[in-house]
Amino acid sequence: MSRRTPPRPEDPASVLPELAGHGRTATRLHPRPGSPGVGDSSVSGPLLWPADEPWPTCTEPHPRGHGYLLRDAERRRTELYGPPRRRVSPEGRLVPFHPMPHALHRPDLADTDPVPLLAVAQLYRRDVPDLPAGPDGCDLLQVLWCPFSLHGPDQVELEPRLYWRRSEEVREVLAPAPRPEVVGAGPVLTGPCVLHPERITEYPDLPALPEALAGRLTGADAERYRTALSVAPGWKAGGYPYRHRTSPPPDRCGCGAALTLLLAATHGEWDPDDPTWQPVEDRPGRVRLNAPTGFGVCDGSTVQIFVCADDPSHPHLTWTHL
Ligand SMILES: [Zn+2]
Ligand SMILES: [Zn+2]
Repeated sequence: MSRRTPPRPEDPASVLPELAGHGRTATRLHPRPGSPGVGDSSVSGPLLWPADEPWPTCTEPHPRGHGYLLRDAERRRTELYGPPRRRVSPEGRLVPFHPMPHALHRPDLADTDPVPLLAVAQLYRRDVPDLPAGPDGCDLLQVLWCPFSLHGPDQVELEPRLYWRRSEEVREVLAPAPRPEVVGAGPVLTGPCVLHPERITEYPDLPALPEALAGRLTGADAERYRTALSVAPGWKAGGYPYRHRTSPPPDRCGCGAALTLLLAATHGEWDPDDPTWQPVEDRPGRVRLNAPTGFGVCDGSTVQIFVCADDPSHPHLTWTHL
């Protein structure tokens, strides 16, 4: 089933005529729980990973024996975000969640033992028109991250790793892919989802507008521009970045060139209280559909990955807000 975003309640360029011509396309991915294959674009589906290429691992020091068992965390994610289930038994008792102890499950693991990364996303360019070109004509992007969100200077960031491939060069596929036994935090896990890519047009987020322009929008008008007319929530490729007021995302590559938003991953696909971005096919929707991947802890949980607009082989930059 395709997913269609309803038309914007009004044309952003009629609200601010200076925005005419500044629309930028983005591809909303519309992930929904499913069983993708290696030949599909997906969130947390199996990757088209060559059998003779080592699966990536994290060796940065953090306690990798302490946390949640992956099998417990996956079961909890299904309880929270999977198909609705009865929370009350026929006898009227509340059905408890599966236990998910946060404990030292693997005392034998040293802090730098290699821990397999989690498969987060796989995007084929044929499916995602706003996926920027990869280096050397690659048509497949694979994104993985460490199951411990203990990276960066403040030890609170995810450090996604990107792998670009030419899909036709992959012969034998690695199966099954290695998986960590222990994970640091439930919100870094995403459940397997198929994608329903849809191309939309976006405008710069309110804090990214020149002051003179943003200053003309006040009160409810500013809020309406920010929530309904500018940047789409949810998982997407390309388009304008979500711009936090106090912690703006990076805007320049180390080489000085502009950055392009490669991929945004978020908890919520739309705001349940103001569902202007909710696809028509999901209406009326269950609230839990608003977070189909299970990523993050609240609607503000966001990871944005940026790449150099001039040279896709330059190191990518990441902005994390969990
Ligand atoms: Zn790590
Ligand atoms: Zn660059």
